[in-house]
Amino acid sequence: MRTPLIAGNWKMNGDQDMATALCHEITADAQTLSNVEVLLCPPFTLLLVVESALEGSRCQLGAQDMDINANGAFTGQISAAMLKDCGCKYVILGHSERRAIYGESDLLVAEKIKIAVAGGLTAILCVGESREERESGITEQVIERQIQVVIDIVGIQSFNNLVIAYEPVWAIGTGLTATPDQAQQVHNSIRQQLASLDASIADTCRILYGGSMKPDNARELLEKPDIDGGLIGGAALNAQDFLKICQATCPTA
Ligand code: PEP
Repeated sequence: MRTPLIAGNWKMNGDQDMATALCHEITADAQTLSNVEVLLCPPFTLLLVVESALEGSRCQLGAQDMDINANGAFTGQISAAMLKDCGCKYVILGHSERRAIYGESDLLVAEKIKIAVAGGLTAILCVGESREERESGITEQVIERQIQVVIDIVGIQSFNNLVIAYEPVWAIGTGLTATPDQAQQVHNSIRQQLASLDASIADTCRILYGGSMKPDNARELLEKPDIDGGLIGGAALNAQDFLKICQATCPTA
């Protein structure tokens, strides 16, 4: 049984007042949700504010990226240990914006995953195809390649401490969403890839969908058997929208 995970990626948004208000609104209602893990990933500057606002709640804290180095002369970078020190349990790695804007390769993402897992963080590995790749009919090969590099570098056993987020690049922040069937097909092929190496890991590894998930499309996506939650961008900045997506994981809510 995989507990659904709804993770909010705030990206480069927010200040201390906004973060405090958003967290208070989310935590007040999140207490009433059962059987869903709720995760907030603010920018680095707000990690401690959010950590303190989440204290005593059932919401968890995560970061949006980290460096592969442990410490030293790496101006502007943040290490896994620093994230742990701020109370992070999770870290998002390989988001398509990091890959496309900052040139992060499959290999670098895999190295980051290795460091995150070794540092006691649960990594959320983002994978996804571009519009051109989908139109060329190579979606599943692209995703398989992105995941295979991680398997090669960290080993299949590390997927015990890893969540995968399938995020079609063409659906992120665009208002376009993969249909539930399109998403399910990719999620299922990811699970098959894991199952070819370890059936038990394939069964327990959570695979989130990300890409314009909103209150009005969340339930039909989350009802699919291989969709175990969501990585939410825009809608995570609105407490009521985010909570409605969390509620959509509960079949009777
Ligand atoms: C994201 O950036 O991970 C994301 C899914 O964004 P949005 O929900 O805004 O498409």
